[in-house]
Amino acid sequence: MNLNQLTIEEARLLLDSGKITSLELAHDCLKRIKSLDKKIKALITLGEPEALSQARLADERIGRGEKGTLLGIPYLAKDNLLTKGIRTTAASKMLENYIAPYNATVIAKLEQAGAVLLGKTNLDEFAHGASTENSAFFTTKNPWDLKRVPGGSSGGSAAAVAADFCLFALGSDTGGSIRQPASFCSVAGFKPSYGRVSRHGLMSMTSSTDVIGPLTKTVADAALVMSVIAGADKFDSTASSVKVEDYQAGIKKNIKGMKLALPQECFGDDLSPEVRKVMDQAIADFKKMGAEVETVSLPHMKYGIPVYYIITPSEVSSNLARFDGLRYGYRAQNKKTDTLNDIYLNNRGEGFGPEAKRRIMLGTYALSAGYYDAYYKKAQAVRILITKELEEALAKYDAILTPTSPHTAFKIGQQDQDPLQMYLEDIFVSGPALAGLPALSVPAGFIEGLPIGIQIIGPKFQEAKILGLGAKFQEATSWHKTKAKI
Ligand code: GLN
Repeated sequence: MNLNQLTIEEARLLLDSGKITSLELAHDCLKRIKSLDKKIKALITLGEPEALSQARLADERIGRGEKGTLLGIPYLAKDNLLTKGIRTTAASKMLENYIAPYNATVIAKLEQAGAVLLGKTNLDEFAHGASTENSAFFTTKNPWDLKRVPGGSSGGSAAAVAADFCLFALGSDTGGSIRQPASFCSVAGFKPSYGRVSRHGLMSMTSSTDVIGPLTKTVADAALVMSVIAGADKFDSTASSVKVEDYQAGIKKNIKGMKLALPQECFGDDLSPEVRKVMDQAIADFKKMGAEVETVSLPHMKYGIPVYYIITPSEVSSNLARFDGLRYGYRAQNKKTDTLNDIYLNNRGEGFGPEAKRRIMLGTYALSAGYYDAYYKKAQAVRILITKELEEALAKYDAILTPTSPHTAFKIGQQDQDPLQMYLEDIFVSGPALAGLPALSVPAGFIEGLPIGIQIIGPKFQEAKILGLGAKFQEATSWHKTKAKI
């Protein structure tokens, strides 16, 4: 076995018993990346020398008898997370050569914990999208079928974990960007509650829903990563000071007697029979483990997409205003610039891709005088209804189950010219994002050789319960053990 194939749990045991070193682990990951990333294109930047020196440092710490959950474990980070000294592009021409002067809090925490950063992964530009096709550089390929997308926007991270380029990866989830690619690539993808993980140093997209979370080979590994990255942060006032749960203890808890809700709106006639079959099997597995499953109605769930696509562009239009090529960002060359406006038009016109521009225009429109009440304010009001409905259901039930996505990975180019179709990808994942709830996608089966995940949504700040349900599901099933043949 090559060491890059290990889970974090497995590698931990081998590192602590001195059977392997962090340097050997990092070498195997780098070897795998170098031989296969030509095909997958999951990485924007490889930080080999930096990774090797971090691995050596981790080995020294282990040698001194230090213990740590992620000490010596190699990982990749989505390229919208600031990394000091390694460029952070957000997959945008706007920031192609940007090097951040500081680390995002999650990166700093991982560095302190001794995890080894191998490089940065591809995404849809500024995390706008569901396929990585909006990256200004290239589209990542799905390891299960190179003609298909890996999902998005954290598609590079999901593909990298599925292809064993690393032991885990970080993604960000604003409206599904960890969970949907996890479903498409057959890995575990966990979106923590809003505020559970610091957003400091994550490039802001929709500041009211942005969350950083792990993509891992197993749910148990996601719990390990969470135990390092969760918690309050003096640099982010939205990072909650609610006590971080003991995730390791949480995932061992018996799920017998837990009450799970199935929203009838997510299992309606328009759900494909193939997806339904996978979901039915997964639900039967939960019942076998002693969980009680009941159907519920969440009539506001269907407004998730329209609400999300008013609020997201509104916040995006404001958050992207800082990129003007003056303070930083892309500077257009050899252009007529008579006025300040010319400078903005040239820099932003050339620096942003079509989807970023679309969202800036939609958001500016929705926020403008005369339209604000009709669009933005209305969307916020409906967002409260969606949140209340989910919270009420989660007061009665331990968790809500839905498919993560209505289908398996689609073909590259199939819908990149159809923004509306692309927005519909978020049908099951936007609601929990708007409500700030924790949600996990776990591999639940295959349809014609392509993976599909089930989504487990939980009450705010009760991530341990959700991770526990996912971990127990993986003890009872083996979908996550099947690997893509690349
Ligand atoms: N598909 C969603 C969008 O395009 C999700 C983005 C995200 O979670 N970053 O906005």
